[in-house]
Amino acid sequence: MAPAVKIAERRKTRQIMLGRVPIGGDAPVAVQSMTTTKTADVEGTLAQIYAIAAAGADVVRCTCNEQEAAEGLAQIIPRSPIPIVADIHFHVEMALAALEAGVQGLRLNPGNLRKPEEIKLVASEAKDRGIPIRIGVNAGSLHPDLYKRFGGATPEALVESARMEIAYFDEVDFHDIKISVKASNVPTMIAAYRLASETFDYPLHLGVTEAGPPPGGLIKGTAGIAALLAEGIGDTLRYSLTADPVEEARAGRQLLEALGLRERKGLDLIACPSCGRAEVDVIKIASEAQAALGDLNIPLQVAIMGCVVNGPGEAREADLGIASGRHKGHLFIRGKIVRVVPEGEMVTALVAEAKKIAEEGIEARLAAADENAEAEAAADRALLFEEKGADANNANEVILRIRNRAKDAAADGDETGEGEDSSAS
Ligand code: SF4
Repeated sequence: MAPAVKIAERRKTRQIMLGRVPIGGDAPVAVQSMTTTKTADVEGTLAQIYAIAAAGADVVRCTCNEQEAAEGLAQIIPRSPIPIVADIHFHVEMALAALEAGVQGLRLNPGNLRKPEEIKLVASEAKDRGIPIRIGVNAGSLHPDLYKRFGGATPEALVESARMEIAYFDEVDFHDIKISVKASNVPTMIAAYRLASETFDYPLHLGVTEAGPPPGGLIKGTAGIAALLAEGIGDTLRYSLTADPVEEARAGRQLLEALGLRERKGLDLIACPSCGRAEVDVIKIASEAQAALGDLNIPLQVAIMGCVVNGPGEAREADLGIASGRHKGHLFIRGKIVRVVPEGEMVTALVAEAKKIAEEGIEARLAAADENAEAEAAADRALLFEEKGADANNANEVILRIRNRAKDAAADGDETGEGEDSSAS
């Protein structure tokens, strides 16, 4: 067999950590997407995050445009299977609240958050917490002064915007940075990233902004992102589609697989991060399941969830999953509980069900569900909810800190809002 051809030597960048996901350096190119739910809708956002993760995203971005969104993040973060980046446009308070909520990364738009003192304040707080920031320059919301100076949103203007933001970050000795210079015009985007790659050694997040609905959006995104990846440029990417974000994640993953930059997936195992509600050692069960299912070559999304209270709902997009509670395992198919098994038999039951799905199909296995399973599961959930209460992750404490911070800012007369959040590319 001929040796595999490499698409390009990757350009060496510094490495940053988004939670446990490395970006840049010799890390694999990471896939990102962005939720479309209101971040204050905790359950809806989590369900979308799980679906995005199952489709191949390594990182997800959520808007943090209002106090309720920051409070939502405080509840979402402990339960998200992948690191969360908070998207910040106009309001410095929202950046600070997102950090308080525990986000793994921030995205600042230098065209919208413009006051140097505010930019430096956010960078200082991020530095204290070891949280990286993406400087997310966008041709559509370029700083008006730069627009005038360069006669438009040229590649040079986009890169200059990033350079100016880096200069503010340098003043507070903050270097945990990732950069994007997105444009909706593909040749402009490609030229901007080429220039950024020559100018900075920070990791680059690739994307064609506002690409539109598929198939046109997919083609534009692929044209820009693939051209750069083929030159070794890019450490992470997002397709900005006018579509379900699951499609963005899937497209990102498929592009990287097609270019030989990520391995092909057969089994797609996702697991919750485990939190205050966990009833089992999720890492141990997930590695046992990986070992048992990995070689079967069954193309299924399988979810391992730490608790029965939220697990089946959070992972309702997965084909098959198991959640633990009260020394039992709740086996579910597409969110519906089909069987309740003793905790010690969780992995065996999972493997047996995966094989049956491969033979009979999902609909047949849903039809073969144990008719008492849903009721037994509901009783277990109710008992556990009673035991641990509604706030097993102590998110209320964090929310209180976010509210106090907002109160203090209001008392200081620290009014910084300049407009409405409109751009999220
Ligand atoms: S333990 Fe339960 S609530 Fe916590 S992350 Fe896992 S499934 Fe979600």
